[in-house]
Amino acid sequence: MKVSAMIRHHISDSLLMAYSAGQLPEAFNLVVASHVSMCDECRARLESFDAVGGALLEASLEHAHDQSPAAAAPMAADSLAATMQRIRAAGPARREPAPRSVRRGLFPTPLASYVGGDLGAVKWKPVGGGVRQAILPTDSTASARLLYIPAGVGVPDHGHRGTELTLVLQGAFSDAYDRFGPGDLEIATADDEHSPVAEAGADCICLAATDAPLKFNTFLPRVLQPFLRI
Ligand code: ZN
Ligand code: ZN
Repeated sequence: MKVSAMIRHHISDSLLMAYSAGQLPEAFNLVVASHVSMCDECRARLESFDAVGGALLEASLEHAHDQSPAAAAPMAADSLAATMQRIRAAGPARREPAPRSVRRGLFPTPLASYVGGDLGAVKWKPVGGGVRQAILPTDSTASARLLYIPAGVGVPDHGHRGTELTLVLQGAFSDAYDRFGPGDLEIATADDEHSPVAEAGADCICLAATDAPLKFNTFLPRVLQPFLRI
């Protein structure tokens, strides 16, 4: 079966919107782009968010054009209705589809370009208990790493203060709440009890990104949310 059809844990709306708006740290972009390239459902949702974002941007640019450059401030509340009108009038977005990963190896395309190849190109470092990791080069706003967890082994306490995204590439892991298989994305915050254990049978390989505390929910006005739930 295609990986996309087996995925049960997807990118949240707020995370996908933040990605679409270019608001995420580089390491999170990598994880989101990797999941999107494996997942038909999230790719379709992303295209919707991109279309809405593009229409909003266009509308606000037009609005700014009408006035002096100094007036290019955030849209006034009374212009929101007009903006929504324009978005609806714009109809379906004419936009190239987001790239779909051509999976020749294990890694989705966005990840392979960071690693400089597939699994064989990874420079693993042992972190104890048979677990290995490889830090990927991203800017310092968040960090990205590959994790290799032998079958049946628990991830060592890796403590994170902020949000952690974990994308399963091979095998599966379970924590107190759920099971995550290939293509699944776990979104954990500092508040979550979080001690994943790799399933017996296959070694688990994940892509994980962690940051300092982030707020995904505040960058778009709440009033737009009903519309954005496409
Ligand atoms: Zn998805
Ligand atoms: Zn964690």
